[in-house]
Amino acid sequence: MRVVRDVAAVRAAVAGSGRVGLVPTMGAFHEGHLSLIRAAREACDLVVVWLFVNPTQFNEASDLVAYPRDEARDAALAAESGADILFAPDVDTVYPRGFATTVTVSGVADVLEGVQRPGHFAGVATVVAKMLNMVGPQVAYFGAKDAQQVAVVRRMVADLDIPTRIEVLPIVREADGLAMSSRNVRLDPGERRSAAALHRGLVAAKSAVALGERNPAALARGIEAELTAVGIDPEYVAVVDPDTFTPVDTIAGPTLIALAARVGSTRLIDNIEVAP
Ligand code: AMP
Repeated sequence: MRVVRDVAAVRAAVAGSGRVGLVPTMGAFHEGHLSLIRAAREACDLVVVWLFVNPTQFNEASDLVAYPRDEARDAALAAESGADILFAPDVDTVYPRGFATTVTVSGVADVLEGVQRPGHFAGVATVVAKMLNMVGPQVAYFGAKDAQQVAVVRRMVADLDIPTRIEVLPIVREADGLAMSSRNVRLDPGERRSAAALHRGLVAAKSAVALGERNPAALARGIEAELTAVGIDPEYVAVVDPDTFTPVDTIAGPTLIALAARVGSTRLIDNIEVAP
């Protein structure tokens, strides 16, 4: 595996390489990231892993400063998982002097995470557009963990005619159900135990749907009760259409239940798909 820092080098590597798969990441790899790299390895001739802690998608300076970084460890894990190229540009490469363009997606980017994290999705959409233009992959791999990000990226790729297929892989979880996240390392042992309530609540809601519950408000109340029982006050629990992220009136088709909560000072998100 080669580590590449500039656009010309990544384009030279990609040229004539057949089917190119891109795995966008901010590093601090865990099994969630590695599952995406392995899926790309299975399906593509050349696997490019993008590693860039994108400053413009952080709405809290303290979160950006505290974000875990270990490129040497990430490079070893990416290589083991089948990456051919680790594309890790500097901030000046991605945002050179004079940079003045922002990609904003309306609608799906304006709710939930879009409200809680102002500017976040503009940062995401802009960097994903740039990355897809830099690398030109046939396929890009994303995790269902960031479900609203997936919906925003799909909207942007369709709207801007970007010729990349977006593949989405399931959420990889710890043994107690907590969705793997680079931010989990910030949880102290007590917070780590409490954090399992996020997935417990989502699974209970899915079971309720299987037993016939169709009322989004009742599902959200059940999840909120599970969270408050361990002292977690959610930022939102939302029952939405998986493509548009608009709230649904009743569970009539494939529906996403998404939540965000601070556990101590660490902000976590999770979601689950339900259907009647
Ligand atoms: P990040 O480095 O957090 O920006 O994540 C990079 C990619 O990995 C995104 O597409 C995430 O959705 C995905 N990802 C993060 N955590 C998980 C997880 N637990 N399971 C599956 N995919 C994940």
